[in-house]
Amino acid sequence: EAKSRGRNRYAFYSPDMAARTRERMLIEQGLVRALEDNSLTVYYQPVVDMADGSLVGMEALVRWQHPELGLVPPDRFIGVAEESGLIDGIGAWVMRTACTQAMIWLAKYPIELRLAVNVSVREMAADNFVDRISHTLQETGFPPQNLEIELTESTLQSIEHSQGLLYQLKALGVSIAIDDFGTGFSSLGLLKHLPIDRIKIDRSFVRDLPADSNDIAIARAIAAIASSLGLQMTAEGVEEKAQQQFLHELGCQNAQGYLFSRPLAREEFEQLLSGDKQNALH
Ligand code: C2E
Ligand code: MG
Ligand code: MG
Ligand code: MG
Repeated sequence: EAKSRGRNRYAFYSPDMAARTRERMLIEQGLVRALEDNSLTVYYQPVVDMADGSLVGMEALVRWQHPELGLVPPDRFIGVAEESGLIDGIGAWVMRTACTQAMIWLAKYPIELRLAVNVSVREMAADNFVDRISHTLQETGFPPQNLEIELTESTLQSIEHSQGLLYQLKALGVSIAIDDFGTGFSSLGLLKHLPIDRIKIDRSFVRDLPADSNDIAIARAIAAIASSLGLQMTAEGVEEKAQQQFLHELGCQNAQGYLFSRPLAREEFEQLLSGDKQNALH
């Protein structure tokens, strides 16, 4: 691989590489501390009904409150956490924190909120994964039928027993969504063999709607698959009214995106729930 870089064939030894390795080490060490000193935090992005923008649930999204770097987004540390194995602890913490919080909101507000939580391949491969979820549900009292686990296509492909695992999860009463749908491989095979409840169309296909004819074709195809297989559909990254309208006409039930709301800190989400406008984000 280094050879193909031609003149930079010694890139492996470059200071650049050393800097990156160092950064990964710093992130890894920082994450170990973050888990201990409570500097991870969960944000909640509202999920709405595509038809009228009313709130139907939220997706839990982890952030890292770093003393110098500020609020670090997950794309900067989830990869390192996966490689180092720290993701097991982080994932367990996010699940417990989000279920505990969502349980409080369920009890306090008269809205049947659905909580979505992202799970990585590495977590799912752990022997005790299903037991861990089951334990968290019992411990927090959160109703399994209100929990949705988000997995990516690559996750499902790289786990040998993903079919068995998903049926075990379903047996707990939770539902399963495929995240970033359309960006992985053999999506159709997965849908046929696995007990999936929902697909989330990736925001890269939503961004240029309703102008781009390729994205129109892709969105239509995904909506047709979802409807004929009886799956629910969520659109990610809905930023414009025209996107909402187009996707609504395609029969897509739910939406997430800046048009409705960015991911919110716990207190902000609470304000949304308690405010007058709790049932109409747009
Ligand atoms: P994802 O699960 O696909 O989450 C959606 C991402 O899109 C979030 O980024 C969200 O802030 C962003 N987003 C939502 N609406 C819009 C919009 O209208 N426009 C744009 N440009 N972006 C929008 P975030 O929070 O930075 O998370 C990135 C990814 O990190 C997530 O993608 C997910 O794969 C991963 N992640 C986040 N939290 C966790 C976690 O607790 N566990 C694991 N394993 N992965 C997580
Ligand atoms: Mg997600
Ligand atoms: Mg996604
Ligand atoms: Mg994503």
